Amino acid sequence: MRYASHIADLVGGTPLVRLGHVTDGVAATVLAKVEYLNPGGSAKDRIARNIVDAAERDGLLRPGGTIVEPTSGNTGVGLALVALQRGYRMVFVVPDKFTGEKTAVLRAYGAEVVEVPTNVPPEHPDSYYSVSDRLAREIPGAFKPNQFANPNGPRAHYETTGPEIWRDTDGRVTHLVAGIGTGGTISGTGRFLKDATAEEVVVVGADPEGSIYSGGPIHGYAVEGVGEDFYPDTFDPAVVDRYERVSDAESFAMTRRLAREEGLLVGGSSGLAVVAALRVARHLPADAVVVVILPDHGRGYLTKLYDDAWLDARGIPLDTLTEGALS
Ligand code: PMP
Repeated sequence: MRYASHIADLVGGTPLVRLGHVTDGVAATVLAKVEYLNPGGSAKDRIARNIVDAAERDGLLRPGGTIVEPTSGNTGVGLALVALQRGYRMVFVVPDKFTGEKTAVLRAYGAEVVEVPTNVPPEHPDSYYSVSDRLAREIPGAFKPNQFANPNGPRAHYETTGPEIWRDTDGRVTHLVAGIGTGGTISGTGRFLKDATAEEVVVVGADPEGSIYSGGPIHGYAVEGVGEDFYPDTFDPAVVDRYERVSDAESFAMTRRLAREEGLLVGGSSGLAVVAALRVARHLPADAVVVVILPDHGRGYLTKLYDDAWLDARGIPLDTLTEGALS
């Protein structure tokens, strides 16, 4: 019989799928790495497993311990899966603007969710950062993964995502395109592919307009999980050869096309990455192989980017969406 002993053992090993509809006019092969097929629905399952493994090896997490992390999204789900496999208590600190469906998912996995006010500065005792630091200090046996600084995040991608892409393309990958949140995905995967090809693989960072990575003015944007207003320790800028800046409208238009035309129901950061990938791929010859990372599932965004009224309320015009997607 072939079976896993636990769902958390099925992290990684996600497939590549060729994009065949949104790629009209593109000669190169564009392959999407479908990270939503991880058991928690995102690429974050990879870092969760690796961070917990390393913490156990280093004696930072022992039987009966507690994982404390400020997260409202995919990292929380990944950590929850690994924690419940291994019997750890989980406490996630979530700003109150993110409560609702996302915290319901964390609670469904048996996590405790501590809600904190969104609009307080980081140094305030009730902030996201202060509360998670305090809980990590006060709870006996607590371990804080600290995903924006933990090197075992990017390492997970160096050890799994990169080798999977190398193997599944028979070493023919020429370009990697990914969004940047903590930077773990692009830094780890990109570094592996550059090491494997004597720096030949071109790494492209897909960045929302308003984020720090691609330069230009820093301001708010609606795509979730990518872009930052600071440089996390987990991001290695030396790995990125160039950036593509993508607007919310372009990202959401492409995300919706991926669902309707490719059958890939994904989150907004996937659409963002595909817009960037197509901009790159359009100028490449037929033997180029562009791999684009689709980080998470779209089910968590049905009442957001998949909802016309939600887009409309943000001034994102629906009728220009499709044209805008390839600009
Ligand atoms: N997309 C989504 C939906 C995410 O949650 C994240 C992680 N913050 C990313 C992309 C970016 O991944 P990374 O943190 O590895 O840069």
